[in-house]
Amino acid sequence: MSKELTKRADDYSQWYNELVVKSQLADHSAVRGCMVIKPYGYALWENMKDQLDKMFKETGHVNAYFPLFVPKSLFEAEETNAEGFAKECAVVTHYRLKSDPNNKGKLIVDPEAKLEEELVVRPTSEAIIWNTYKGWIQSYRDLPILINQWANVVRWEMRTRLFLRTAEFLWQEGHTAHATKEEAVEETVKMLDVYADFVEEYMAVPVIKGVKTANERFAGAEDTYCIEALMQDGKALQAGTSHFLGQNFAKAFDVKFSDKNNKQAYVWATSWGVSTRLIGALIMAHSDDQGLMMPPKIAPIQVVIVPIYKGDDSKPVIDGKVATLVAELKALGVRVKYDDSDNARPGWKFAEYELKGVPVRVAMGLRDLENNVVEVARRDTKAKETVSMDGLATYLHQLLATIQQNMYNNALAFRNEHITPVDSWDAFMDVLENKGGFVAAHWDGTPETEEKIKELSKATIRCIPLNNVAEAGVCVLTGNPSTQRVLFARAY
Ligand code: AMP
Repeated sequence: MSKELTKRADDYSQWYNELVVKSQLADHSAVRGCMVIKPYGYALWENMKDQLDKMFKETGHVNAYFPLFVPKSLFEAEETNAEGFAKECAVVTHYRLKSDPNNKGKLIVDPEAKLEEELVVRPTSEAIIWNTYKGWIQSYRDLPILINQWANVVRWEMRTRLFLRTAEFLWQEGHTAHATKEEAVEETVKMLDVYADFVEEYMAVPVIKGVKTANERFAGAEDTYCIEALMQDGKALQAGTSHFLGQNFAKAFDVKFSDKNNKQAYVWATSWGVSTRLIGALIMAHSDDQGLMMPPKIAPIQVVIVPIYKGDDSKPVIDGKVATLVAELKALGVRVKYDDSDNARPGWKFAEYELKGVPVRVAMGLRDLENNVVEVARRDTKAKETVSMDGLATYLHQLLATIQQNMYNNALAFRNEHITPVDSWDAFMDVLENKGGFVAAHWDGTPETEEKIKELSKATIRCIPLNNVAEAGVCVLTGNPSTQRVLFARAY
C-alpha cells in the first residue's frame, strides 16, 4: 500500500479516511458502521485510557461493570432519555438460531426462542445503573456513589466515520449519585475540568468549556456541559460531555434516601463520558499531509531508532550503542522502539514512522557513531539536527516535552485565530463559508431561532462558554435583544 495520502486541501475527508487506515490505527469491518481498532490504534487508546483512569481515581472514583443489555421496561423508565435514544437502539428479540429446514447450511432465527421482554443494547447506561443504585441507596451514609465504567456502547448511527462517529464505540461513562443538588453540580463541573485538563495537557488539543443549549442537551439531563475542540478544516467537534441529571433518574427509578433528619428525598445524579471519538479529534487537530502527529505524552512510540548500515559488519557496533541508549531512555520512562528489521530500507522506515506520527526519530549510522553523533528528526517541525551522543537520552527526553508544548501552541494559535465575532447575518454566513471555525454571535435565546439558524447555515450552537462575559447586543438573525455571545460552528 502506498504511503502517499490525498492532500488535506484537495479532499479533507478523503485524507482523514486514508490516514486512519494507512497509519494502521483502524480498519473498516464487515459490520456496517463498526470499525476494527488495530494494535497501533489500541495502544494509543490504552495510553489515553490509563491517564484518564488515573485522573478519575485521583478525584475519588472507582470502576465497576454493568450489563450490556437493558430490559426494555427499564430503558423506558426515564421517558426523555428513552425517547431521545429510541431511534438509535439495537434491540435483541430472540436468543437462539436454528438450522433452516429449507436451506441446508443456513441458519434462521428460531421463532420459538422469542424473548418475553426485548433487550436494548445499551446506547448509554443510566437506566440499568439507576435501577441497580435503587438497591444500594437507603440513607445519606450510602452517598455519594462515584462510579465509572469502561465499556462499549451501541448507537445505530446512520452516517458513520472512523473514530468520530461509529455505531459501536468504546468509552467510559461515569455515573454518580449525591445527596444534594450543589454536590451534583460540583461533580459535573469537576469532571468537565478533568476532561479539559486531559485533552489539553495530554492530547495537546485546546478546548472551550461550555454549556449546551436545551436543543443540544443530553436526553434526560437538566444541563449538559461540554468541551468543544476545533479541527483543521474549521469544523468543531464535541470532545466530551458532563451531564447534571437533576433528580430525573432517581424519580424514574424511585431512588430515595433518608437524610440526617430522617426525611426522605430523591437522589441527585450526574453522568459523564468521553469516547474513542477523542482519537478522531487528535488526528484532525494535529496531522498533516505526510501523516499523523502523535502528542508525545500519549504516543504509543515516542522515539524510534533506525540503524543505517551497509553489510553486516557494522550492525553489531550500532546495536551496542543503541542498547545503551535504549536502556537510558527506558530509565527515563520514554517509550522507545529500535527498528532493526532488515526487511525494509531506512528511507521506507522514515516514511512509515512519519505516517504513524512518531514524535522523534533517531537515525544511527556508522560514520556518525565514529564522530559520536546521531541525526535527530522531529515529527512536528520536520527539523533535523546532528546531536552529540553524550547526554543524548536526557536531550531526547526534554525534546519530547518541547514537542508536546509546541503542538499545543500551534493548535491553540489556530483555534484562537478561528474564533470570529460577527454582528450581522451576512458576516455570519461569510465566516462560515470562507473561513470556518467558531463564530461568536448574539442569539435571542430561543430554540426556534437556533433551529432556523441551523436550517439556513448548517451551523449549530456548540456551547455557551463558561467564561462568557455579559454583553448587550441583538440576535444576528432576528435582531431581538441578547445578553451574551454564543459560539456557533459547523460540526462533526
Ligand atoms: P453522550 O452520552 O451523548 O453525552 O456522549 C458521550 C461522549 O461520547 C461524547 O464525548 C460524545 O462526543 C461521544 N459520542 C457520542 N456518539 C458517538 C459515536 N457515535 N461515536 C463515537 N463517540 C460518540
